[in-house]
Amino acid sequence: MHFDPTTASAGGRMGQTNQQGTVVGAHEDSLASIGAPRRTRLRMAEQEKVVDALESWPPEPIGQVRVRLLTEDAVADLRGPTACEVLDDAGVRAVLDRLGPDPQLDDGPEAEAKFVERLRKSGKAVGLQLMDQAVVAGIGNVYRAEILFRARMNPHLPAKQVTVEQARDLWADWARLLEIGVTTGQMMTMDDLADDAYRAALANRADRHWVYKREGLPCRVCRTHIVLEEMGNRKLYWCPRCQA
Ligand SMILES: [Zn+2]
Repeated sequence: MHFDPTTASAGGRMGQTNQQGTVVGAHEDSLASIGAPRRTRLRMAEQEKVVDALESWPPEPIGQVRVRLLTEDAVADLRGPTACEVLDDAGVRAVLDRLGPDPQLDDGPEAEAKFVERLRKSGKAVGLQLMDQAVVAGIGNVYRAEILFRARMNPHLPAKQVTVEQARDLWADWARLLEIGVTTGQMMTMDDLADDAYRAALANRADRHWVYKREGLPCRVCRTHIVLEEMGNRKLYWCPRCQA
């Protein structure tokens, strides 16, 4: 979903502007689309009423808008969904029951065990399994690439060859990155950065990731060129040396 208003006020967190993140069409990168910054967005809505008044309201739909949710001062547009249906309560329940665990809803041992079991039961590549909503809900393309790099795991490794220990680590890392994302409002996947580097990373997507959108650039760890390939009809970025 794409939310308006999208720009953070000057008094926003860390003082950064978010213009670079709000590229129409680049849904998964957009600060204005669901990925990480859920809590932050709710906070942003209150700050941005002043901005709204200066523009025509409501804004014209852009792209393939299938659903629009509109209030007096906010709009959420659903664009280009894989599936789009109106469901009754039972239908919603059935969809939710099919979904894998989401650590923002439940990071307890049962959720972890469900993830580990569902991930490892398939001979498909681990990079594919992480994008299966029945295995884990909502990782998305940015986090898939980044989590696998952080684990130094080959995306083509058959998921059944992932050890229980490794699977638990993937789950824990996903929970950690998701919490950072929700807290900062950015899909920040590099941690342990010094203050300056951290600020740069928050302000600029290019400084925020290990491998995502870095094809052809030297790996931050080993200087091997980052590879881009299609996996599960989505672009996958990885380092063939660190993730050999
Ligand atoms: Zn590398």
